[in-house]
Amino acid sequence: MKLIFIGPPGSGKGTQAKRLASRFGIPHISTGDMLREAVAEGTPLGQQADAIMKSGALVPDDIMIGMIRERLARPDAGKGFILDGFPRTLVQAEKLDALISGNGSEPMRVVRLLVPDEAIVKRIALRRTCAQCGAIYHLENQPPKVDGVCDRCGGELIARPDDTEGAVRKRLESFHRQTAPVADYYKSKSWLKEVDGTGPVDQVFEKIEKSLS
Ligand code: AMP
Repeated sequence: MKLIFIGPPGSGKGTQAKRLASRFGIPHISTGDMLREAVAEGTPLGQQADAIMKSGALVPDDIMIGMIRERLARPDAGKGFILDGFPRTLVQAEKLDALISGNGSEPMRVVRLLVPDEAIVKRIALRRTCAQCGAIYHLENQPPKVDGVCDRCGGELIARPDDTEGAVRKRLESFHRQTAPVADYYKSKSWLKEVDGTGPVDQVFEKIEKSLS
């Protein structure tokens, strides 16, 4: 299973991709998580990406393509993977095609989560992320058992620095301008499934499973 999740920020990609990855026993590869790790570790890449991410802009394609090339070459990605947050531009999509077809493998499946912009802005204001393990919560729809503490690992729950309203609006704008054409590209290859991403997490998960079966 080689699966790509496409959706605006806060559409539930991360939550759903994590669930599917554990259901299928394949790695969940989130370029956003990889970048946040690099920022936390203070690597040269992290230092470069930090300000770009905080502003809500995209990190340059060549950096992202190099990062994903390395990650897909690791042995755990051999039996399949779920990509979350990549590709985000047409250039990234074309490079990914070249990388995958180089392995002589079957076509990818692409799920696009549809959530209206105004719902996104509301969702993100209430989103909290575990600073330690990356688990995602929503203060109303999926609150942690103990305020501010991750159910899974006990880590601290924080609002992401790029989850401010200004950065979210910028991320939405870049989604519509740069990432929505990626969905059209996959549609033209007949690889795309569109799933309504509004509603409770479990219901959306069921819809995704159905669309893949
Ligand atoms: P995410 O966690 O997927 O919402 O990503 C957070 C931020 O990381 C984005 O707003 C971008 O600044 C950066 N980022 C993640 N993936 C990519 C990508 N494929 N291309 C460019 N920038 C990315």
